[in-house]
Amino acid sequence: MRTRTGPSEPKPFFFVPIDSKRPPRRERAIEHDRFQGLTGALQLYIRVEPGYLYVGSGRIELDEHNRAYYAFARCNGKLVIPGTSIKGAVRSIVEAISNSCVVQGERDQRSGSHSACQDLHSLCPACRLFGTTGYAGRACFSDAYPVGKVETKIVKIADLWPPRRTDGRKFYQFKRFVPPEDDKPEKNHRFLESVPKGTTFATSLSFANLLPAEMGLILRALGLGESRKQPGTVAPMRYTKLGGGKPRCLGSVYFAPAGLRLVSLGGDNLFQGLSMAMPGEQWQPQLLAWLKNNSLLDKEAYDRFIAGCSNREVCQAPCPTGVY
Ligand SMILES: [Zn+2]
Repeated sequence: MRTRTGPSEPKPFFFVPIDSKRPPRRERAIEHDRFQGLTGALQLYIRVEPGYLYVGSGRIELDEHNRAYYAFARCNGKLVIPGTSIKGAVRSIVEAISNSCVVQGERDQRSGSHSACQDLHSLCPACRLFGTTGYAGRACFSDAYPVGKVETKIVKIADLWPPRRTDGRKFYQFKRFVPPEDDKPEKNHRFLESVPKGTTFATSLSFANLLPAEMGLILRALGLGESRKQPGTVAPMRYTKLGGGKPRCLGSVYFAPAGLRLVSLGGDNLFQGLSMAMPGEQWQPQLLAWLKNNSLLDKEAYDRFIAGCSNREVCQAPCPTGVY
Protein backbone atom coordinates (compact mmCIF):
# COMPACT_ATOMS: atom_id res chain seq x y z
CA MET A 1 0.00 0.00 0.00
CA ARG A 2 1.33 3.42 -0.91
CA THR A 3 1.29 5.91 1.89
CA ARG A 4 2.91 9.22 2.66
CA THR A 5 2.32 8.99 6.38
CA GLY A 6 5.32 8.00 8.44
CA PRO A 7 5.12 5.52 11.32
CA SER A 8 4.87 8.44 13.76
CA GLU A 9 1.61 9.59 12.17
CA PRO A 10 -0.88 6.72 12.25
CA LYS A 11 -4.00 7.37 10.20
CA PRO A 12 -7.03 8.68 12.08
CA PHE A 13 -9.43 6.03 10.84
CA PHE A 14 -10.11 2.32 11.08
CA PHE A 15 -12.14 -0.24 9.16
CA VAL A 16 -14.88 -2.64 10.22
CA PRO A 17 -14.48 -5.55 7.78
CA ILE A 18 -17.35 -6.77 5.60
CA ASP A 19 -17.62 -10.55 5.49
CA SER A 20 -19.08 -11.63 2.14
CA LYS A 21 -19.77 -15.09 3.60
CA ARG A 22 -22.23 -13.53 6.05
CA PRO A 23 -24.81 -11.54 4.05
CA PRO A 24 -27.21 -9.18 5.91
CA ARG A 25 -30.22 -10.73 7.67
CA ARG A 26 -32.93 -9.33 5.43
CA GLU A 27 -36.62 -9.25 6.34
CA ARG A 28 -39.84 -7.68 5.16
CA ALA A 29 -40.26 -3.93 5.86
CA ILE A 30 -42.52 -3.08 8.81
CA GLU A 31 -45.67 -1.33 7.58
CA HIS A 32 -46.54 2.24 8.49
CA ASP A 33 -50.29 1.76 8.28
CA ARG A 34 -50.94 1.02 11.95
CA PHE A 35 -49.26 1.51 15.30
CA GLN A 36 -47.76 -1.76 16.40
CA GLY A 37 -44.56 -1.02 18.26
CA LEU A 38 -42.56 1.67 19.99
CA THR A 39 -43.57 5.13 18.86
CA GLY A 40 -42.39 8.40 20.33
CA ALA A 41 -39.40 10.72 20.58
CA LEU A 42 -36.08 10.64 22.41
CA GLN A 43 -34.68 14.07 23.31
CA LEU A 44 -30.93 14.29 22.93
CA TYR A 45 -28.15 16.78 23.52
CA ILE A 46 -25.17 16.79 21.18
CA ARG A 47 -22.06 18.03 22.96
CA VAL A 48 -18.92 19.02 21.04
CA GLU A 49 -15.80 17.44 22.53
CA PRO A 50 -12.17 18.63 22.36
CA GLY A 51 -11.45 20.16 19.01
CA TYR A 52 -14.17 21.58 16.80
CA LEU A 53 -17.33 20.67 14.97
CA TYR A 54 -17.89 21.86 11.42
CA VAL A 55 -21.15 21.13 9.61
CA GLY A 56 -21.15 22.83 6.24
CA SER A 57 -23.84 23.81 3.79
CA GLY A 58 -21.51 24.47 0.85
CA ARG A 59 -21.71 28.24 1.36
CA ILE A 60 -18.45 30.21 1.17
CA GLU A 61 -18.11 33.61 2.84
CA LEU A 62 -15.40 36.22 3.48
CA ASP A 63 -14.16 37.19 6.95
CA GLU A 64 -12.86 40.57 8.12
CA HIS A 65 -9.38 39.70 6.77
CA ASN A 66 -10.92 38.88 3.38
CA ARG A 67 -10.19 35.20 3.85
CA ALA A 68 -12.68 32.90 2.16
CA TYR A 69 -14.12 30.32 4.53
CA TYR A 70 -16.70 27.55 4.44
CA ALA A 71 -19.63 28.69 6.58
CA PHE A 72 -21.37 26.55 9.22
CA ALA A 73 -24.89 25.56 8.13
CA ARG A 74 -27.64 27.99 9.18
CA CYS A 75 -31.40 28.12 9.10
CA ASN A 76 -33.04 31.55 9.48
CA GLY A 77 -29.70 32.91 10.67
CA LYS A 78 -29.30 30.28 13.41
CA LEU A 79 -26.58 27.63 13.40
CA VAL A 80 -28.05 24.23 12.64
CA ILE A 81 -26.95 20.63 12.31
CA PRO A 82 -29.42 19.24 9.75
CA GLY A 83 -31.24 16.15 11.01
CA THR A 84 -30.17 14.37 7.82
CA SER A 85 -26.49 14.82 8.78
CA ILE A 86 -27.14 13.27 12.21
CA LYS A 87 -29.09 10.42 10.63
CA GLY A 88 -26.28 9.79 8.12
CA ALA A 89 -23.67 9.50 10.89
CA VAL A 90 -25.85 7.26 13.09
CA ARG A 91 -27.02 5.14 10.18
CA SER A 92 -23.45 4.32 9.10
CA ILE A 93 -22.77 2.95 12.61
CA VAL A 94 -26.07 1.02 12.65
CA GLU A 95 -25.12 -0.45 9.26
CA ALA A 96 -21.78 -1.66 10.61
CA ILE A 97 -22.96 -3.07 13.95
CA SER A 98 -26.00 -4.84 12.45
CA ASN A 99 -24.16 -6.25 9.39
CA SER A 100 -26.45 -4.31 7.05
CA CYS A 101 -26.05 -3.48 3.38
CA VAL A 102 -23.57 -0.88 2.10
CA VAL A 103 -25.43 2.13 0.73
CA GLN A 104 -22.40 4.39 0.39
CA GLY A 105 -18.85 3.27 -0.05
CA GLU A 106 -16.46 1.84 -2.56
CA ARG A 107 -17.88 0.28 -5.69
CA ASP A 108 -16.63 -3.22 -4.79
CA GLN A 109 -18.33 -3.01 -1.37
CA ARG A 110 -21.60 -1.90 -2.90
CA SER A 111 -21.83 -5.06 -4.99
CA GLY A 112 -22.12 -8.71 -3.99
CA SER A 113 -23.35 -9.93 -0.61
CA HIS A 114 -23.79 -6.47 0.93
CA SER A 115 -25.14 -4.55 -2.08
CA ALA A 116 -27.90 -2.00 -1.34
CA CYS A 117 -31.29 -3.58 -0.62
CA GLN A 118 -33.71 -3.43 -3.60
CA ASP A 119 -36.70 -5.50 -2.54
CA LEU A 120 -39.05 -4.10 0.12
CA HIS A 121 -39.87 -7.66 1.13
CA SER A 122 -36.21 -8.23 1.96
CA LEU A 123 -34.56 -5.31 3.74
CA CYS A 124 -31.49 -5.30 6.00
CA PRO A 125 -31.84 -3.92 9.58
CA ALA A 126 -30.55 -0.43 8.62
CA CYS A 127 -32.89 -0.08 5.60
CA ARG A 128 -35.84 -1.29 7.72
CA LEU A 129 -35.03 1.38 10.30
CA PHE A 130 -33.91 4.36 8.24
CA GLY A 131 -35.53 3.63 4.90
CA THR A 132 -34.48 3.10 1.32
CA THR A 133 -35.91 3.94 -2.12
CA GLY A 134 -39.66 3.34 -1.85
CA TYR A 135 -39.70 2.95 1.95
CA ALA A 136 -39.69 5.94 4.30
CA GLY A 137 -38.06 4.37 7.34
CA ARG A 138 -39.26 4.61 10.93
CA ALA A 139 -36.57 6.71 12.65
CA CYS A 140 -35.36 10.22 11.91
CA PHE A 141 -33.64 13.12 13.69
CA SER A 142 -34.89 16.70 13.88
CA ASP A 143 -32.56 19.55 12.93
CA ALA A 144 -30.35 20.35 15.93
CA TYR A 145 -30.11 23.93 17.23
CA PRO A 146 -27.61 25.32 19.75
CA VAL A 147 -28.51 25.54 23.41
CA GLY A 148 -27.45 28.97 24.71
CA LYS A 149 -25.08 31.40 23.09
CA VAL A 150 -22.49 30.04 20.67
CA GLU A 151 -19.39 31.71 19.28
CA THR A 152 -18.02 30.29 16.07
CA LYS A 153 -14.34 30.28 15.19
CA ILE A 154 -12.67 30.17 11.78
CA VAL A 155 -10.36 27.15 11.88
CA LYS A 156 -7.63 26.48 9.34
CA ILE A 157 -7.07 22.89 8.29
CA ALA A 158 -4.84 21.21 5.73
CA ASP A 159 -6.68 19.79 2.75
CA LEU A 160 -7.75 16.21 2.69
CA TRP A 161 -6.97 13.31 0.46
CA PRO A 162 -9.17 10.25 0.49
CA PRO A 163 -7.43 7.00 1.42
CA ARG A 164 -6.33 4.95 -1.55
CA ARG A 165 -7.45 1.66 -0.15
CA THR A 166 -10.50 0.57 1.74
CA ASP A 167 -10.81 -2.52 3.84
CA GLY A 168 -14.45 -2.45 4.83
CA ARG A 169 -16.54 0.26 6.44
CA LYS A 170 -14.42 3.27 7.33
CA PHE A 171 -14.80 5.21 10.60
CA TYR A 172 -12.76 8.11 11.95
CA GLN A 173 -11.17 8.06 15.36
CA PHE A 174 -11.22 10.56 18.15
CA LYS A 175 -7.82 12.22 18.13
CA ARG A 176 -6.50 15.50 19.38
CA PHE A 177 -7.03 18.34 16.89
CA VAL A 178 -3.74 19.96 15.88
CA PRO A 179 -4.16 23.46 14.45
CA PRO A 180 -1.75 24.57 11.68
CA GLU A 181 1.10 26.81 12.84
CA ASP A 182 -0.52 30.03 11.64
CA ASP A 183 -3.83 31.16 10.20
CA LYS A 184 -2.54 32.73 6.99
CA PRO A 185 -4.12 31.62 3.72
CA GLU A 186 -1.94 28.92 2.22
CA LYS A 187 -2.00 26.49 -0.70
CA ASN A 188 -3.71 23.18 0.11
CA HIS A 189 -5.38 24.60 3.22
CA ARG A 190 -8.89 25.80 3.89
CA PHE A 191 -10.83 27.69 6.54
CA LEU A 192 -13.92 26.28 8.21
CA GLU A 193 -16.40 28.12 10.41
CA SER A 194 -16.58 25.77 13.40
CA VAL A 195 -17.95 25.60 16.92
CA PRO A 196 -15.63 24.80 19.84
CA LYS A 197 -15.60 22.22 22.60
CA GLY A 198 -18.50 22.47 24.99
CA THR A 199 -20.99 23.76 22.42
CA THR A 200 -24.29 21.94 22.90
CA PHE A 201 -27.08 21.33 20.40
CA ALA A 202 -30.51 19.84 21.05
CA THR A 203 -32.19 17.36 18.72
CA SER A 204 -34.78 14.64 18.97
CA LEU A 205 -35.02 11.19 17.49
CA SER A 206 -38.57 10.48 16.31
CA PHE A 207 -39.44 6.83 15.92
CA ALA A 208 -42.52 4.88 14.90
CA ASN A 209 -43.39 1.19 15.13
CA LEU A 210 -39.94 0.19 16.34
CA LEU A 211 -38.99 -3.13 17.89
CA PRO A 212 -37.09 -3.06 21.21
CA ALA A 213 -34.10 -4.60 19.38
CA GLU A 214 -34.14 -1.71 16.89
CA MET A 215 -34.12 0.82 19.74
CA GLY A 216 -31.18 -1.10 21.18
CA LEU A 217 -29.28 -0.76 17.90
CA ILE A 218 -29.90 2.98 17.65
CA LEU A 219 -28.93 3.62 21.29
CA ARG A 220 -25.68 1.71 20.81
CA ALA A 221 -25.01 3.62 17.58
CA LEU A 222 -25.50 6.85 19.58
CA GLY A 223 -22.69 5.66 21.85
CA LEU A 224 -24.95 5.19 24.89
CA GLY A 225 -24.53 2.61 27.63
CA GLU A 226 -25.01 2.13 31.36
CA SER A 227 -23.13 4.73 33.37
CA ARG A 228 -20.25 3.34 35.45
CA LYS A 229 -20.45 6.25 37.87
CA GLN A 230 -24.21 6.05 38.30
CA PRO A 231 -25.39 2.50 37.63
CA GLY A 232 -29.02 2.39 36.56
CA THR A 233 -28.66 5.46 34.36
CA VAL A 234 -27.70 5.87 30.71
CA ALA A 235 -24.64 7.90 29.74
CA PRO A 236 -22.49 8.58 26.69
CA MET A 237 -19.78 5.90 26.50
CA ARG A 238 -17.95 7.02 23.37
CA TYR A 239 -17.94 9.77 20.80
CA THR A 240 -19.64 9.84 17.41
CA LYS A 241 -18.18 11.65 14.42
CA LEU A 242 -20.31 14.33 12.79
CA GLY A 243 -19.87 16.84 9.98
CA GLY A 244 -16.83 17.74 7.89
CA GLY A 245 -13.07 17.78 8.45
CA LYS A 246 -13.07 14.32 10.03
CA PRO A 247 -9.72 13.34 8.43
CA ARG A 248 -8.32 16.35 10.35
CA CYS A 249 -9.95 15.07 13.54
CA LEU A 250 -12.85 17.52 13.68
CA GLY A 251 -16.39 16.49 14.55
CA SER A 252 -16.15 14.44 17.76
CA VAL A 253 -19.43 14.73 19.66
CA TYR A 254 -21.21 12.96 22.48
CA PHE A 255 -24.93 12.24 22.49
CA ALA A 256 -26.62 12.52 25.89
CA PRO A 257 -30.24 11.50 26.46
CA ALA A 258 -32.46 14.23 27.93
CA GLY A 259 -35.96 12.76 27.92
CA LEU A 260 -38.30 10.25 26.36
CA ARG A 261 -41.89 10.47 25.16
CA LEU A 262 -43.77 7.32 24.26
CA VAL A 263 -47.13 7.15 22.53
CA SER A 264 -49.48 4.91 24.44
CA LEU A 265 -51.69 2.30 22.84
CA GLY A 266 -55.26 1.77 24.00
CA GLY A 267 -56.47 -1.43 25.64
CA ASP A 268 -57.35 -3.06 22.33
CA ASN A 269 -54.20 -1.66 20.68
CA LEU A 270 -56.01 1.43 19.43
CA PHE A 271 -53.72 4.37 19.00
CA GLN A 272 -54.76 6.98 21.54
CA GLY A 273 -52.57 9.75 20.19
CA LEU A 274 -51.18 10.53 23.62
CA SER A 275 -47.49 11.07 23.76
CA MET A 276 -46.47 10.85 27.40
CA ALA A 277 -43.27 12.45 28.67
CA MET A 278 -41.77 9.92 31.06
CA PRO A 279 -40.06 11.00 34.28
CA GLY A 280 -36.33 10.28 34.49
CA GLU A 281 -36.72 7.39 36.94
CA GLN A 282 -38.86 5.66 34.29
CA TRP A 283 -37.11 6.44 31.03
CA GLN A 284 -33.59 5.65 32.26
CA PRO A 285 -34.45 1.98 33.03
CA GLN A 286 -36.44 1.85 29.78
CA LEU A 287 -33.38 2.88 27.73
CA LEU A 288 -31.24 0.36 29.66
CA ALA A 289 -33.74 -2.41 28.91
CA TRP A 290 -33.62 -1.59 25.18
CA LEU A 291 -29.80 -1.48 25.29
CA LYS A 292 -29.77 -5.02 26.67
CA ASN A 293 -31.68 -6.30 23.63
CA ASN A 294 -28.93 -7.64 21.36
CA SER A 295 -30.98 -9.65 18.93
CA LEU A 296 -30.19 -7.41 15.92
CA LEU A 297 -26.60 -6.74 16.96
CA ASP A 298 -23.76 -8.35 15.00
CA LYS A 299 -21.45 -9.06 17.92
CA GLU A 300 -18.32 -9.56 15.84
CA ALA A 301 -18.75 -6.28 13.93
CA TYR A 302 -19.74 -4.42 17.10
CA ASP A 303 -16.61 -5.58 18.94
CA ARG A 304 -14.45 -4.49 15.98
CA PHE A 305 -16.17 -1.12 15.94
CA ILE A 306 -15.74 -0.55 19.68
CA ALA A 307 -12.09 -1.69 19.57
CA GLY A 308 -11.44 0.73 16.70
CA CYS A 309 -12.90 3.82 18.31
CA SER A 310 -12.28 3.42 22.00
CA ASN A 311 -8.57 2.76 22.17
CA ARG A 312 -7.33 5.17 24.87
CA GLU A 313 -3.86 5.55 23.41
CA VAL A 314 -5.32 6.42 20.03
CA CYS A 315 -7.69 8.98 21.53
CA GLN A 316 -4.90 10.92 23.19
CA ALA A 317 -2.67 10.91 20.11
CA PRO A 318 -2.44 14.05 17.99
CA CYS A 319 -4.18 14.11 14.64
CA PRO A 320 -1.82 13.56 11.71
CA THR A 321 -0.95 16.91 10.15
CA GLY A 322 0.55 15.60 6.92
CA VAL A 323 -0.96 14.07 3.84
CA TYR A 324 -2.01 10.48 4.18
ZN1 LIG B 1 -30.20 -2.43 3.22
